[in-house]
Amino acid sequence: MALLIDIRQPSWMQENTLRDVLSPMLPGVPILCGLEDGDLSLVTMAAVSRLHPGMVERLPNLQLVQKLGAGVETIMRERELAPHVRVARISSEMPAHEVAEYCLTYALGFQRNMLTHDAAMRAGRWEKIAPRKTRETTAAILGLGHIGQRAARMFASAGFRTLGWSRTQKTIEGVECRAGGEALGPLLGDADIVASILPATPETRDLFDADLLAQMKLGALLINAGRGDLIVDDALIAALDMGRPGHAVLDVFRTEPLPEDHAFWRHPKVTITPHVSGWHLDDGLPDVAENYRRLTDGRPLLNEVDRERGY
Ligand code: NDP
Repeated sequence: MALLIDIRQPSWMQENTLRDVLSPMLPGVPILCGLEDGDLSLVTMAAVSRLHPGMVERLPNLQLVQKLGAGVETIMRERELAPHVRVARISSEMPAHEVAEYCLTYALGFQRNMLTHDAAMRAGRWEKIAPRKTRETTAAILGLGHIGQRAARMFASAGFRTLGWSRTQKTIEGVECRAGGEALGPLLGDADIVASILPATPETRDLFDADLLAQMKLGALLINAGRGDLIVDDALIAALDMGRPGHAVLDVFRTEPLPEDHAFWRHPKVTITPHVSGWHLDDGLPDVAENYRRLTDGRPLLNEVDRERGY
């Protein structure tokens, strides 16, 4: 039995770095860094940032794919992944806090008209604009899972009237929670700020199409820190041109890196960040070692994904 680490993201955590963290937690366990580092037939668990084409076929004894992060859609879409192979994700505090903080940062920037002030400053103009009152601003958080609940609490404690939306009904102190497809349109019509932290699933794909975007409030801020395929890109461009929403802050995209010729790059009402809202996994890394032990001992895994449901 062996653990394979496969990350392939030059600007992020390196395979060797993760091996150095995990080795003391898994004494005696062979840990391979990449597909050329040893006998792949021994690998029972693969800790990955995504499943690269052709990878699964090379791992005949794979039992568990451990995502090094929260979003598992690329793993779910891997046709070659046998039904018996289990999937787990990392669901730790640090990246959840970071994603929530990202959403709140841009929400507060919106409240304080930061983009307008920045443009005025660069043009050498002294231009006063009243900030919005937070207690009179409604923020809606879409997705009330590990990250969304934290974001909703953060927005509520910053003073926003906070709405939350999920598939099943939730109860969160200080947050007006709603659930199910029919609740979404009215919720958007009520919200000055909408922050999505939804996973990519067949149900959430293309959810923000022209019809749904038209139900947003005029001038609202849309933040997407979940996954890019939530939004129909052309529909968003058209909707921004009509003012619903008034601005979009996007951290995630259908294709990443965002292609150079994509219209988002040049649209004045779009702010782009390169998938950086959740970054540090540190406090979740012991879960990788724990899941290796649990898999080996036949115990329930931490943060196992429901392959039927897709998240
Ligand atoms: P969870 O699985 O804990 O929560 C997902 C939430 O989305 C749940 O509240 C769930 O509802 C809700 N949901 C799922 N499908 C639907 C639907 N069809 N309609 C309404 N609500 C739905 O995930 P996390 O909070 O840990 O992470 C969410 C996503 O954030 C990840 O899947 C990932 O794609 C993204 N992410 C992005 C990062 C970044 O850097 N930009 C970093 C980390 C994560 P219910 O509770 O009822 O099941």
